[in-house]
Amino acid sequence: ISPSPNLEFHPMMTMRPITLQNVAVIGAGAAGLVAARELRREGHKVVVFEREDRIGGTWVYNSTTESDPIGIDPFRTVIQSSLYASLRTNLSRECMGFRDYPFLASKEANRDPRRFPGHREVLEYLNDFASEFGLSELVRFGTEVRNVCLEGGKWKVRSRKGGDQLDEIYDAVVVCNGHFTEPRIAEIPGIETWPGRQIHSHNYRVPEPFQGQVVILIGSAASAVDISRDIAGVAKQVHIASRSVTDGTIGKLPGYDNMWLHSTIESVDGNGTVVFQDGSAVRADVILHCTGYKYHFPFLDTNGIVTVDDNSVRPLYKHIFPPPLAPQLSFVGLPWKVIPFPLCEIQSKWIAGVLSGRIALPSSDEMMADVEAFYRTLDVSGIPKRYTHNLAASQFEYYDWLAAECGYPAAEKWRNQMYSAAAKNRMARPETYRDEWDDQHLVSQADEDFIKYSS
Ligand code: FAD
Repeated sequence: ISPSPNLEFHPMMTMRPITLQNVAVIGAGAAGLVAARELRREGHKVVVFEREDRIGGTWVYNSTTESDPIGIDPFRTVIQSSLYASLRTNLSRECMGFRDYPFLASKEANRDPRRFPGHREVLEYLNDFASEFGLSELVRFGTEVRNVCLEGGKWKVRSRKGGDQLDEIYDAVVVCNGHFTEPRIAEIPGIETWPGRQIHSHNYRVPEPFQGQVVILIGSAASAVDISRDIAGVAKQVHIASRSVTDGTIGKLPGYDNMWLHSTIESVDGNGTVVFQDGSAVRADVILHCTGYKYHFPFLDTNGIVTVDDNSVRPLYKHIFPPPLAPQLSFVGLPWKVIPFPLCEIQSKWIAGVLSGRIALPSSDEMMADVEAFYRTLDVSGIPKRYTHNLAASQFEYYDWLAAECGYPAAEKWRNQMYSAAAKNRMARPETYRDEWDDQHLVSQADEDFIKYSS
């Protein structure tokens, strides 16, 4: 279990003394678990705060939904997971798993051996990961972090378990609270008088409530595609409003007699009509917002140093460290359009090594200059702030940079190729990409690679 790292193995090792820190990790989802493992491997003392009573975060399916179906009431009881019952992964298990703990198919009964398994299998995998590395013993379950602030150069972490509140001091805080819980809602002219029902995909679980209804679904990302097909099985009509349509794709979707693709919504009105920018109009019962999520750190008080501006968490060096507070505050798992588990793993290795002093960071001014240069590049390229953490075009370059800092090998070629192959396959065969694929040769390469971790 979690051996101490063989420090001679790390080319980036500096001659500085290793400093072991008391570290608070917020969240025991995939990010918090792997952060805890890496921090403890490095020798740090770790406490993981988890408000739920089990590990897994997103992957803990919850059939109940929040009291406010669009999730804008700040006083609603928050449910972490946005999973729907039918969800299967959109990444293959080979691609998705942690680097040194592959997501292998299990032959045990009641496990799901498919390449793109159902959500329960991912939770099983995270449970296996936690027990393999003895991580649950680090977790304080049912304990919510309410406030994190600086006090005398350290972090005061205020947590609550049941009715009890506790303040403790930590050297460092690693934020792993997930970013698929706080809904983003589309702005729709006329919505105040529109009489229908609105719901965000965060609160979508099963299609039955949409039986016989006319549903407008906004969005075209992975969950929008899944949910539209789920609902089309029971709804009278499904109309998808998408920003990314072209003239040629507007209209009835091939293979369905009750599903249409439209451009974005222009307006809605008091008699229930929804008007699309392509000129079509439909009288609808429900608008389902599959419009994504917002970064949200309600517990974090940094005196204004870290802000969320148009869904960009700023300023962050390499999406992880706010320079003025580095390395004592860090974030794991912010990038999106990535392979989350291995990316969180390498981010955590870097954080653990930096905190111990084994890996050096540039000075705060140098990091800030790097961050500002990055933001200027986004501006000059016309990329909105909300795409700051979208690493669709650079995730492997980013991974390899972190890996080099950690003295760890670059990403496997097969993983990179498999990620692209799955993306292409998903576009070409949205219905069947999870069960039909052309990249078996890459699976064989992955399996060869995995042998070294499974012996
Ligand atoms: P989470 O899993 O959200 O965990 C955060 C944890 O922090 C939770 O346990 C929460 O209870 C806890 N927490 C939050 N606030 C506090 C607090 N104040 N105090 C204490 N605890 C707190 N990824 C893939 O790799 N493959 C997929 O196929 C895939 N499909 C997805 C489908 C959907 C619908 C969604 C929403 C996401 C999907 N993802 C997928 C991405 C997935 O979210 C990540 O893989 C990963 O699970 C994120 O882990 P996390 O630890 O960052 O966040």
